[in-house]
Amino acid sequence: MSSQSTGLRPWRQRWNALFQDHEIFIRTHGHVRFVRVSAVWQKRVALIAAAVLFAWAAVTVAIFVNQLLSADERAEVARKQAAATAAEARIAQYRDRVGEIAADLDERQAQLEEWQKTYFGAEALPAAADDDKTGAAADKPPETNTLKTSAVDPRLPPEAQALARIEARQEVFSARLLAAVGARAAKAEGAVAKLGLDPASLVRNAAAGRGGPFIPFRGRIGAAGALGKSFAALEGALFRMEVLERTLVAIPSGQPAHVLMLSSSYGYRSDPFTGASAMHSGLDFPGPLGTPILAAAPGKVVYVGQRAGYGNVIEVDHGQGIMTRYAHLSGFTTRAGAQVAAGQQIAKMGSTGRSTGSHLHFEVRLNGVAVNPRRFLEAKADVLEVKDDARQRVGALASATPGRGAR
Ligand SMILES: [Zn+2]
Repeated sequence: MSSQSTGLRPWRQRWNALFQDHEIFIRTHGHVRFVRVSAVWQKRVALIAAAVLFAWAAVTVAIFVNQLLSADERAEVARKQAAATAAEARIAQYRDRVGEIAADLDERQAQLEEWQKTYFGAEALPAAADDDKTGAAADKPPETNTLKTSAVDPRLPPEAQALARIEARQEVFSARLLAAVGARAAKAEGAVAKLGLDPASLVRNAAAGRGGPFIPFRGRIGAAGALGKSFAALEGALFRMEVLERTLVAIPSGQPAHVLMLSSSYGYRSDPFTGASAMHSGLDFPGPLGTPILAAAPGKVVYVGQRAGYGNVIEVDHGQGIMTRYAHLSGFTTRAGAQVAAGQQIAKMGSTGRSTGSHLHFEVRLNGVAVNPRRFLEAKADVLEVKDDARQRVGALASATPGRGAR
């Protein structure tokens, strides 16, 4: 305390030295006036002046600081706005992408459902065994890789991730469908091969649009390709299955007449008229005049009339390039253009044309080339079972799509 007062003393002395009592004499018009300016008064004025100066400085500083602060605030607001705008743009981008993915998934789902409904109907996918496999595999961590789908950006928001999971499930379903289709196609392929036909060339011919009426593959051609690899694979598998099953259905394995067939009559033999060796391109079924002649497979009657040598003839197109011809008839019970079922009567046995007696001449042509019908007529029970399954499916297919009747 004492040191402080001793420290302040020189300043107080200087301060007091600044303000001395002043006495001012003012002479006006011969009168002399005496004005006294005391040190105390001077000090007061100086203090007031200092206070005013201080107030002015404080206000100035306050205004300056305020300006600085508001500039900062403005920058902050601008920064926040920019961030919000960027976020909005990002969200909009996500929304677009999410919308795109959702539309893509919708399209795929519709295609999958259409395929399942068309080819399997109410029938559950016969992939129970496969299901177990898939289920077991799904438990394993490596299988979660299927959840990583190329179409989904991992930086996408949760709704897009949800879509990715849907897509993964779709992939699993599509794989199940593919397995089911493959199994059915393999069954049909085995049966077709047992009937002496080459499944690979049947599918090739159908794909090339050759070999008789081409199967109009349902849905938009090539649409699956745009939907992804697994869908293209599914489309190919469905096409193959449909060709093989339709071929199986088209194969004339029904008895064209309930009489004994001369099973050795197909091939080279001596012509009953000339005695010379000649190719006999069908099977003969001798029987009483008027015996009912039956369509050997479902199809469309494409010819009713006479042909040289054959006499009265009916030709039925079964699709897949398969045609049957019934010759030497005594009468017709159908007309050209009619759809006939397997076993439906189409004519009566006779002996018209180059015939030595009442019999049916039965021919099967595959893409215009005569084949021995015997292998079809003598098809084993296992093959006929597969064929019957296929007939029910293809039949359901035909009834499910009006305007695309059985061929
Ligand atoms: Zn014949």
